[in-house]
Amino acid sequence: MQQNRNIVYSVVVPLYNEELVIEESYKRLKKVMDAASEAYEIIFVNDGSSDRTREKAENICGEDENIKLVNFSRNFGHQPAITAGMRVSSGEAVVVIDADLQDPPEVILKMIEKWKDGYDVVYGKRFQRKGESFFKKFTAGAFYRILKSMTSIDIPVDTGDFRLIDRRVCDVLNSLPEKNRYVRGLVSWIGYRQTYVEFVRQERFAGDTKYPLKKMFKLAFDGITSFSYKPLIFSGYLGGISFFIGIIMLIVNFIKAAANGLNPVNFQFVISIDLIMFGIVLSCMGIIGQYIGRIFDESRGRPNYIIESIIGKRGEQKKI
Ligand code: UDP
Ligand code: MG
Repeated sequence: MQQNRNIVYSVVVPLYNEELVIEESYKRLKKVMDAASEAYEIIFVNDGSSDRTREKAENICGEDENIKLVNFSRNFGHQPAITAGMRVSSGEAVVVIDADLQDPPEVILKMIEKWKDGYDVVYGKRFQRKGESFFKKFTAGAFYRILKSMTSIDIPVDTGDFRLIDRRVCDVLNSLPEKNRYVRGLVSWIGYRQTYVEFVRQERFAGDTKYPLKKMFKLAFDGITSFSYKPLIFSGYLGGISFFIGIIMLIVNFIKAAANGLNPVNFQFVISIDLIMFGIVLSCMGIIGQYIGRIFDESRGRPNYIIESIIGKRGEQKKI
């Protein structure tokens, strides 16, 4: 990738079926970035959208030379999309922001101020979330806290991927080969001088969330398995405890049966023990499976996204 060092700010925007928001998002971002009054690029990463996102993004590209569009060959997911955007970026500071205007673009100016004060990472901390369901807020809040309690790295709570990172942090991030990336965790892991700005997470401008439960689970498991062994340790404990309970119940049953002159092998008892044991073994295997699956992903060495084309400088196309 050709590096253009004159660009000061790169703004990475992942897009998956965002035809309803892309134009408004572009307008707001442009206004903010013009106000920053230094050379910038906005990198749209079209994550295999099946609606008219690509067409609309190409139109914007054709009119504005500050826009680049990266097209994936299919939907790879939010984390691969922001990873690709960062790899393509060349700014001295790189900002990642959602397309749906839940992260207000105006906050970028505050992030830039902090960056100019010498911080390498400025993340956006949501101190309020508007227009999201109780379920989403509850599960997100619980997840961030569980993850924090499980890891030794200080991953800030209530923080998404909306953040500004310095080029040197971006370069380190780009050099990390791991596949199932939990980008916000990796940024914390990298270190350097980090700070935050608080903001109110807004309602989605239009359309529905592109993060259904399945994708949320995937992200949660990526976060936990990337940064903690505790679930594996926990599954070991669970096995130990259940083994111990089983032994005690067996002894008690034998003593009781001997005292009353009954047959110790009682059908209901055997079935219930069986179910408990089976449940514990399977859930432990599930946890182990989450890790093994990821080890498998890494060992195959497949890329975590495929770029089909990059469009920049007023619509000029580069097929990859
Ligand atoms: N997104 C993406 N690929 C996906 C899912 C989402 O690029 O597979 C983008 C989406 O277009 C948006 C951002 O990731 O810009 C966050 O998604 P969304 O707003 O739907 O998530 P939520 O805010 O509901 O958690
Ligand atoms: Mg959103």
